[in-house]
Amino acid sequence: MSERVVIIGGGPGGYEAAHVAAQLGAEVTIVDSDGVGGSAVLTDCVPSKTLIATAEVMSDLAGAAELGVEFHDAEGDAATGIRVDLGKVNARVKQLAADQSADIGRRLTRDGVTVLRGRGSLAGADRVVAQLDDGTEQMLRADAVLVATGASPRTLPSAQPDGERILTWEQVYDLTEVPTELIVVGSGVTGAEFASAYLNLGIPVTLVSSRDRVLPGEDADAATVLEDVLTRRGMTVLSRSRMESVTRDGDVVTVTLTDGRTVQGSHCILALGSVPNTADMGLEEAGVVLKDGGFVNVDRVSRTSARGVYAAGDCTGVLMLASVAAMQGRIAMWHFLGDTVHPLDLKKVSSNVFTAPEIATVGWSQQAVESGEMQAEIVTLPLSGNPRAKMQGVHDGFVKLLCRPGTGIVVGGVVVAPRASELIHPVSLAVAESLTADQLAQAFTVYPSVSGSIAEAARRLHRI
Ligand SMILES: Cc1cc2nc3c(=O)[nH]c(=O)nc-3n(C[C@H](O)[C@H](O)[C@H](O)COP(=O)(O)OP(=O)(O)OC[C@H]3O[C@@H](n4cnc5c(N)ncnc54)[C@H](O)[C@@H]3O)c2cc1C
Repeated sequence: MSERVVIIGGGPGGYEAAHVAAQLGAEVTIVDSDGVGGSAVLTDCVPSKTLIATAEVMSDLAGAAELGVEFHDAEGDAATGIRVDLGKVNARVKQLAADQSADIGRRLTRDGVTVLRGRGSLAGADRVVAQLDDGTEQMLRADAVLVATGASPRTLPSAQPDGERILTWEQVYDLTEVPTELIVVGSGVTGAEFASAYLNLGIPVTLVSSRDRVLPGEDADAATVLEDVLTRRGMTVLSRSRMESVTRDGDVVTVTLTDGRTVQGSHCILALGSVPNTADMGLEEAGVVLKDGGFVNVDRVSRTSARGVYAAGDCTGVLMLASVAAMQGRIAMWHFLGDTVHPLDLKKVSSNVFTAPEIATVGWSQQAVESGEMQAEIVTLPLSGNPRAKMQGVHDGFVKLLCRPGTGIVVGGVVVAPRASELIHPVSLAVAESLTADQLAQAFTVYPSVSGSIAEAARRLHRI
């Protein structure tokens, strides 16, 4: 008889696990409350990157004059401005997300996975209660349960979203009018991405950051480049400014800072981090230990403290990325169903901040080297010397490589550039396969290409 796997949550942690489990012959049921694809597809990752695709076009257009492109109307008069139709952009965003969710649903059906629409909770380690949207309830017996319920935007009692002018990142796609003055609170990845996107869409943006600089968790040189670019393009960045409250009076939103200063705008996006969706699910009663903040404690093969119960994705707080959620989910199923499994290795995860320019990172960081956690040689090459970047009018950005002294094995890298998310792949491959800087340098790159700088940085790490 097949093993019965019940998955709670249909985001990347859940649906990727379902594919693996079905492929390995298990009988798989997903209980999902909001639509397969999860927040990743419906409200977070896919919508924000679709919005950013429009922002990128605007950013390219803003730099077009340097490349000799001018805009004129039919009469030949210089066009006065380019405008974004936010209603159209948001409609496209929502349609694309809905279509992707439907695609995922079809693939699950094709693989024989049962998808139940409703809310799941544990009734012990081997039972899931599904309260279905049609009002009925099902008790599902399971040989293994995967909890992949994701996380939700964090809000504060003093900063409550109203869905109109004070918004979480899930609510921005309902905007019908263009904000005249947008305030983004929070300068982590989500805050920086929205601030950069709306700035490029032509909206005045103030970014409220409690830290010294934007993106406190990222490479410091990369964050400095980004902050320079954002301020040069007209963004007001308020650093060391902690939000106390956000209030609304008619059309005016006021952000009050802890030092008493106030910032006013037409709209405010709250990017204050996420809280795991783990409350009232019977987890602790079933023996699942939760960490501080309610995240599920898991090991590197996604096991929780309860036998047969695994967890994957944002609800574990391990690294809040769709790619990591998906890998944790697959690892859980490979482990449970006895296939070959490699424990999760966070030092091989590549990630990207989708600002303009993008910031892509993999492996060990310069910060870890400076704190003595890791020994590595570091080379940084500014893109200003790269021939392709010059041709394209790209002035900001760099390539940074880290390799082990002695062996020359590449252990990390950072790319700050347009499309850095694509450029990081050779570095990611080198880190995953423990290639040396010499090996990375010896592979041909196209001339001229921005990736030529990756090979050049690797050549500079050559030691005799
Ligand atoms: C604005 C934004 C942009 C992002 N961009 C990127 C990006 O570009 N790249 C990237 O890799 N990551 C990105 N992320 C992170 C990424 O979205 C998450 O890491 C990913 O969604 C985690 O997947 P998951 O499966 O853990 O959870 P989710 O995608 O949140 O899915 C969980 C699902 O479970 C459902 N659920 C919750 N509780 C229950 C229950 N009790 N019963 C049934 N169903 C339940 C939820 O409704 C949801 O549908 C972004 C995040 C944000 C906020």
